[in-house]
Amino acid sequence: MTVRTPPQSGFHPDSSPVRLRLTGERKTGRRRGFLKQVHAACAALALAAFSVFAPVQAAPQPAVPIAASTPAAYVPLILFSIDGIRWDYLNRGVSPTLSALAAGGVRAERMLPSYPSITFPNHYTLVTGLYPDHHGIVANTFQDPAAPGGVFHMSSKDEAWWDEGTPLWVSAERQGLPTATEFWPGSESAIHGVRPSHWEPFNQGKRADQRVDSLLAWLDLPAERKPRFLSLYFDAVDTAGHFHGPDSEAVNTAVAATDTAIGHLIEGLKARGIAANLIVVSDHGMAAVAPDHTVWLDDVVDPAAVHVVFADAVSGVDIPETAAGHVAEAKLLAPHEHMTCWDKAKVPARLHYGTNPRVPDVVCMGEVGWLIETRAEQARRHFHLQGEHGYDNTAPEMGALFIANGPAFKAGTVIPPFPNVDVYPLMAKVLGVKAERNDGDLAGVRGALAGR
Ligand SMILES: [Zn+2]
Repeated sequence: MTVRTPPQSGFHPDSSPVRLRLTGERKTGRRRGFLKQVHAACAALALAAFSVFAPVQAAPQPAVPIAASTPAAYVPLILFSIDGIRWDYLNRGVSPTLSALAAGGVRAERMLPSYPSITFPNHYTLVTGLYPDHHGIVANTFQDPAAPGGVFHMSSKDEAWWDEGTPLWVSAERQGLPTATEFWPGSESAIHGVRPSHWEPFNQGKRADQRVDSLLAWLDLPAERKPRFLSLYFDAVDTAGHFHGPDSEAVNTAVAATDTAIGHLIEGLKARGIAANLIVVSDHGMAAVAPDHTVWLDDVVDPAAVHVVFADAVSGVDIPETAAGHVAEAKLLAPHEHMTCWDKAKVPARLHYGTNPRVPDVVCMGEVGWLIETRAEQARRHFHLQGEHGYDNTAPEMGALFIANGPAFKAGTVIPPFPNVDVYPLMAKVLGVKAERNDGDLAGVRGALAGR
């Protein structure tokens, strides 16, 4: 398959009154959603995000990898996302549980996110094996020419936004395997009419250990209802990275707290005698951003002449069919310091981005460590981001974490870097689910599988 990808969420009015052609979205208070709330985390919008730093229930440590030899008919696959945990955070000595899982299983040198290296596109890539250009979640905020007036944002639940892809949990459910999601982008929607058997609306205030407890409760269900595929999502590391930068003590504290929660899960699995296959991933890494490293779009074009759909490390700009719009387009496409812009049809093929109608007309990639902003947007934000992602997906700073541990995986193995589209065929193989058409290649990660 071929495809290309898009950009970053933005600080745009993603709550504009939208969704005309996409059928009505639910907006009950309890389900306000992943989108909006993770947006706060990942775009570092102010939020009371530090609730996630609340003390995590103490778990015995260091955790020991799940025994690969436990004879059990029930071997669930559990996919963890630690949002924004960069591949090299593992070397900081603050995550003994993750280190034990890596030592007793498989670790990738680093995993390459898809472009743009932002949260929603990459989480959906991980569970579909499709580049963002192909699964249609092309940014954290975007529009669709087929749905005039509609704006996707991180709390959008209408299936029409999501159904260009088929998440693993949908395929598993169709093939008779119950699934459960303790948060994952898309898991609050009935995609192709199918939801996980067990799921919860995103609640950023729910502590990491409480999320683990919810997952463990699903493992205590009667055999016929026990999920075979489960997902778990932690957001504290990303939030700390945005607010304090990747090299901050706050990031190390968040990594340690998340690690403790994972230890709690592993103890819970051991107590139940469950030999699970565990895959720990992140959606992207994090780069430090200096206070004066901003490319002001206002200095390049007249903001009134274009529509900035999203901005930051990557920016997507729609060009109106007006004389002023064409002037602005030419200015954007000219060479710039710290920013490269392409007509969406000319985005480099290696980025797999730009063919989807949802990708804005012009895509601008920031140099690593630089932001692309409008002054109006910065004024709305009220603070300076000290860490950001969304850059070139091959930049080391954008590299993601990948660890696999369990009966299906080798022990003590390090595999070379690979693209995150390969995680999906790997999970389908481990789960025994027939995969949908995808952009991944099992060959890239076959070295992780036991018996190979
Ligand atoms: Zn993220």
